[in-house]
Amino acid sequence: MFEDLRSYLSYLEDQGQLLRVSEEVDPKFEVAAGIRKTSDIRGPALLFEKVKGFPNWRVLGGLFATQKLVALGLRVQEDELLERYLALEDKRIPPELVPDGTENTTSWTGAEIDLKRLPIVTHSERDVGPYITIGIQIGKDIETGIRNVSIHRMLLAGKDRLSLWAPPDHHLGRLIAKAEEKGKGLEVATAIGVDPAIIVGSQAKVPMGVDEFEVAGGLRGSPVKLRKCQTIDVEVPASAEIVIEGVTLPGERISDGPYGEYQGCYSESKQAAVLKVTAITMRENPIYQTCLAGFPVTENHTLIEYANAAYVYREVKKIVPEVKGICMTPGGTFRHHVVVSIKKRQEEEARNVILVLLASGVGIKHVIVVDDDINVNIPLEVEWAVSTRMQPDRDIIIIPRLACSTLDPSVPKPRTTAGWGMDATMPMGDHEWFDKVTVPGVEKVKYLKSYERL
Ligand code: MN
Repeated sequence: MFEDLRSYLSYLEDQGQLLRVSEEVDPKFEVAAGIRKTSDIRGPALLFEKVKGFPNWRVLGGLFATQKLVALGLRVQEDELLERYLALEDKRIPPELVPDGTENTTSWTGAEIDLKRLPIVTHSERDVGPYITIGIQIGKDIETGIRNVSIHRMLLAGKDRLSLWAPPDHHLGRLIAKAEEKGKGLEVATAIGVDPAIIVGSQAKVPMGVDEFEVAGGLRGSPVKLRKCQTIDVEVPASAEIVIEGVTLPGERISDGPYGEYQGCYSESKQAAVLKVTAITMRENPIYQTCLAGFPVTENHTLIEYANAAYVYREVKKIVPEVKGICMTPGGTFRHHVVVSIKKRQEEEARNVILVLLASGVGIKHVIVVDDDINVNIPLEVEWAVSTRMQPDRDIIIIPRLACSTLDPSVPKPRTTAGWGMDATMPMGDHEWFDKVTVPGVEKVKYLKSYERL
């Protein structure tokens, strides 16, 4: 596995999946424009080597711009990502504490702290300002000491101030609220520029109380090496490019947003927690990493696709033993819409699948259930099943007003949604009038080989 971000970048370069950009780019919009473009053309990750106003800095973007890049980061084949992710997510290897080595050659504390010296990027047109978008936040429950690892956006709000938008139904948001209830701040470290398994592992849909570094350990096949922070009692990946140490200010809030979010629209301004920075440490010639959210598909979507698909798979598997495929759809932002193919054992089983997924609270708004002869990854096949196996008056379920983690702007009130599902499976028993029409011998036609598009 990769020891750190730099060894992963060399590997990507060898694979032709990292482009060094030597022309000068402005951190305001120009870095994000490159990430947008490479995401749209399914291109490589980008290492910007000349950033306007920030000599000696390099900015990395689009590290997970495509599913191929996610697969490379976990060293698995792209077509077996879900299967491998499911196995690796369960492995759970605890992290290992190592002494603070010499890697963090720069350390700013007290008056030296100045976030404005970091090349923090402004991404989308109507964003309120520059955001740190792919910092790994590490915080501990003030009662149990159990660690949580997650990613939240942070708005630059001063030399030593950042917003920390962690909603109350997210684990870190809960930890901040728990500390505040006791009149305390929560110590939070933010690690930027770590190996890809840590970033992917931080997105695992594991329950509160599970240390996501253990999941990352399983994904990378060896323990994540952690070191202690300098000013707070939190551990961070030892090889991180940059670490921002800080503590939330209890009761203080800052206006955060608009921000171009994962659902492809701007989210409105929110009252976010405030982080007071207590130290910034860096490696020599640090690489600052950013990530683009916004209209699908970007790295913000691919990064969570498999964590979400794995969660859905496990939920469906609890009620139907044979789950053939799961597709979190790109237009559904890899969160709102899911297509599930199952081998039914009894009539109406698809309705149970719909209900369990709508009730899960992870952001699912629409579930389509199809039979196991439908490839969930081919939209035409799914639509065909809907058009020939589904009757709306009989097969659509609508559940109003569910608590749900979603930023969908159509919802009646925040973090609520109606959910709907379609049973597009055929009746069990005699399939004669539902089967696909086929022509014998298509696989024997060789003369069209050169015309075949993959
Ligand atoms: Mn967690």
